[in-house]
Amino acid sequence: MDKKELKTMRSSFQKLDERRIEILHDPRIHSLMEKVSKIRKDSIDNMEELLEISKIKFQDNGIEFTYAETAEDARNIIYQLVKGYSIIAKSKSNTVGEIGLSQFLKEKDIDIVETDLGDRIVQLNYKDQRPAHPIGPALHLNIDKIAEIIHDTLGVEVEAEPRAIMELIKQDVLKELELCSVGITGANSVAAEDGSLIIVHNEGNISLLSMMDTHIIVVGIDKLVPTIEDAISVVKLETAYATGTYLPSYMNIISGPSKTADIEKRLLKDMYGAKKVIVVMIDNGRSKALKECLWCIGCGSCIVACPVYNAVGNEFGFRGYLGGRGTAISKFLESDESSYNNGLFMCTLCGLCTLECPVSTPTSDIIEKLRFSVQKSGFYPKIHTQISENIKKEGSPFKKE
Ligand code: SF4
Repeated sequence: MDKKELKTMRSSFQKLDERRIEILHDPRIHSLMEKVSKIRKDSIDNMEELLEISKIKFQDNGIEFTYAETAEDARNIIYQLVKGYSIIAKSKSNTVGEIGLSQFLKEKDIDIVETDLGDRIVQLNYKDQRPAHPIGPALHLNIDKIAEIIHDTLGVEVEAEPRAIMELIKQDVLKELELCSVGITGANSVAAEDGSLIIVHNEGNISLLSMMDTHIIVVGIDKLVPTIEDAISVVKLETAYATGTYLPSYMNIISGPSKTADIEKRLLKDMYGAKKVIVVMIDNGRSKALKECLWCIGCGSCIVACPVYNAVGNEFGFRGYLGGRGTAISKFLESDESSYNNGLFMCTLCGLCTLECPVSTPTSDIIEKLRFSVQKSGFYPKIHTQISENIKKEGSPFKKE
């Protein structure tokens, strides 16, 4: 991120903080926080069991269940499902970003159209397609910059005015969607015992994607919770912390493909919605991750509070998983080296992210543990060796002239 983008990001964070202040002091949100913390901790402790239950329940509900051990497995499963199409549609999803699906499919000549406004802007920004916030991916781009990106990539002049930009992108995406019959989304929470997935959104784009012939839902095993009531509690808390509102405009609960029994109670498939719903459940290192690293509900509050993220932006993090928790999880999703390169040693261990986290993820403790293990593989700032040698030899961290 350049200086201008960092400035815009900080100003967007400030607006978000102002919007959230009232709701975060509401006693209802406090009790929801306690409830969800317990749900998330218990669910991560029982992740394997929930996975087995969900597999059976999805199949009972007519949802095809697939399991991917690695990111590569996930890409290949999805490719088998979409090969033969030249364009497919997608909504915002950190899990899809994690497995590098867009680039992979592009190399196979399959275009992905981003349907979320912020994601579409970031996608058009070919110079740097990294998001700045899990819910507001383009909040680091000011309006003049967005107008410039649109001019450069779509070749049209647009007034630097929010509604004009929104209308232009909306029409552009709708035109592309006419060519798509496969929609790929993530899910915010998954109810194992009900075989249901919840996807929250404000724009209505998920509803469009879930009406396509095939709806593919890509989700990590860490999103599993026992029941639909638990899943709703999780997404309500996520919404409050991420946007400062009590509820999103839409919560799509997907529990099967489209069907009707309106004629003599005979079951008929393929009414208006998806003919096929396919879940791609991804492990990709999660089952070996530190449990507390998986409590996250994806609200992005940690990065708003983080002094390092505010100073350097999305250099500190891994793809859509931003800030300290993002660098930490990248050790498990990718490697020690990835975690080191994503800023494991940039964290100040101040603990502000834990104070702001609705489920109290102990990010600084996690980072301390991971630094200890990652340095054993040779990934640590080499200047530390020099400092330690100076202390041993000179009794001071500084080298004598
Ligand atoms: S502990 Fe690290 S990740 Fe958390 S707010 Fe402080 S600097 Fe950021």
